[in-house]
Amino acid sequence: YTGKSRTQLLSESLKKIKVEDYQSLPVVINESVSIYDAIVSMFLEDVGTLYVVDEDSLLVGVLSRKDLLRASIGKQDLNTVPVNIIMTRMPNITLCRKDDLLIDVAEKLIEKQIDSIPIVKDKGRGYEVTGRISKTTITKAFVSLMHTD
Ligand code: ADP
Repeated sequence: YTGKSRTQLLSESLKKIKVEDYQSLPVVINESVSIYDAIVSMFLEDVGTLYVVDEDSLLVGVLSRKDLLRASIGKQDLNTVPVNIIMTRMPNITLCRKDDLLIDVAEKLIEKQIDSIPIVKDKGRGYEVTGRISKTTITKAFVSLMHTD
């Protein structure tokens, strides 16, 4: 018996969890697709955030539910305006890497008041999206921590 408190043990196992242990699949769309098609993708893929990429599959933007809602109540033609007009764009995207600690990424979600963070891999000129961490990811990790001994 190590004499460590439950809290110490819990915090030690929390600090071992990497982003890649709990990541989910990213849903990616091309920057030239219409706002309408992005809304359809969000429903079909059942995600709250879409990542937007250029023709080289490099990350250029993020689209949230409210980004799409805002566009929908505006005056733009949803069938012709491309998503790159309304997305949050690079370099203002909060990113993480597969080796980052989940707890650090969870703190970023809170600090930046966002629902998800893309996991990226460096590709010279930019970043390729390889995964996604969302508030659901953090909830799953939280629950699984309670089931380890
Ligand atoms: P919602 O807008 O539906 O509440 P979010 O809280 O995730 O969803 O998004 C808030 C704003 O932050 C949106 O404009 C969105 O484009 C942007 N955003 C979402 N994720 C990120 C991210 N990882 N980095 C930078 N901006 C982001």
